[in-house]
Amino acid sequence: MEKYYIITFGCQMNRSDSERIATILEDIGYEKASNANGADLIVVNMCSVRQSAVDRVYGLYSKFKKLKSGNKNLKTILTGCVLKEDKRKFAKLFDLILDIKDLSKWSQKLNVPCSNIYRYKEQNNDYLKIKPKYQTLFSAYVPIMTGCNNFCTFCVVPYLRGQEISRSAEEILFEVKNLISQNYKEIWLLGQNVNSYKDGKINFPKLLKTINEIKGDFWIRFTSSHPKDFSDELIDAMAKCEKVTEYLNLPVQSGDNEVLKRMNRPYTIEHYKNLVKKIREKIPEISLSTDVIVGFPGETREQFENTVKLFKKIKYNMAYIAKYSKRPQAKAFLLEDDVSYQEKERRHKILTEILKKTALEKNKKYIEKEIEVLINSSKDNICFGKTKTYKTVKLQTTNYKLQTNLVGQFVKIKIIDALPWGLKGSIEIKKEALALKLKLFET
Ligand code: SF4
Repeated sequence: MEKYYIITFGCQMNRSDSERIATILEDIGYEKASNANGADLIVVNMCSVRQSAVDRVYGLYSKFKKLKSGNKNLKTILTGCVLKEDKRKFAKLFDLILDIKDLSKWSQKLNVPCSNIYRYKEQNNDYLKIKPKYQTLFSAYVPIMTGCNNFCTFCVVPYLRGQEISRSAEEILFEVKNLISQNYKEIWLLGQNVNSYKDGKINFPKLLKTINEIKGDFWIRFTSSHPKDFSDELIDAMAKCEKVTEYLNLPVQSGDNEVLKRMNRPYTIEHYKNLVKKIREKIPEISLSTDVIVGFPGETREQFENTVKLFKKIKYNMAYIAKYSKRPQAKAFLLEDDVSYQEKERRHKILTEILKKTALEKNKKYIEKEIEVLINSSKDNICFGKTKTYKTVKLQTTNYKLQTNLVGQFVKIKIIDALPWGLKGSIEIKKEALALKLKLFET
């Protein structure tokens, strides 16, 4: 049997798409390879949001050359968010460049008959209807919408993924109920802008409430949010739905109103701060993260200082800080990239230092508390998990069997130390009258 391997770059949406690619490839007779070396078909699901992600795909060139010299039948496919310019350049590196939205037709492109071809035809090319091969048995990505209507000037997503399309609420609920009946513990609702989800009378807050009513022991997470669409109704829904986790990624992108305007982000910093205030009033335990770009064209030192002020004021739990890079097709491509790389590095470092302090300060509040953690992996006697507030927790275990049994479970963990990027914990489990002590992981 021929084997496939998928290399995924970028966001959770891409990872979710890769789960649907896996379904199609297995339907047409491929089997998953444990690594690229053993594969007859390699799919690269790429991201074009930053130049660094594109460079990583270029970086595969020598690897593919070597693999092809060892396996003459090896086929390579490029998919995901691929810019027109890059399509031309990547044509030499890949045998096929296929659109993810045409996923139901991939079997024809690969010249392999598909037993489910009629089923896929009925889906009118709506690739989100394809049932994914979920990567774990406890946490699942459920895209609720795709595309974006916002056209931030630094971003290529609306040109690549197209306008916003929401999945039907009925379809989403069917998928979530099915996952919960299989004992899934964490549901990630995904979309480029989940806040603008709409299916008839069902908007995003109503969708959250409906999912929250499904019986079962599980958490609901969602991403991404746009501050302009974050309504009071949504804050209320988050506060009332006990299964919705106390974690929110609220991308600010810049702390300066002028820069926000040039980014085509239609809100002001005053609006953003007020929004955070309302969220914190209703959900005091909320853990807040953000996305921010430093060195956007024309960003002066004074304008950057406004982002510094914002970071100090909000005291984020986490932030994804990006150095601006030009993206062909995005509107800002036409603006002069006039902040030097060294200056972008400097600004990146300043925000990281503030973040380290605020994140540590927030994490210290967990010390001595016993909190619920969903264990998501274990390796070399260490378990990793996430709190409801999306903090990473690290535990060292002495019992391998127990350690693997914990993966996919909610476990009460006592937090005994805090770092800027995570927590350390200890746990005592009584099992068949045997108390097993898991030791603190020392670094
Ligand atoms: Fe890109 Fe802006 Fe849409 Fe996010 S909201 S996907 S940054 S255009």
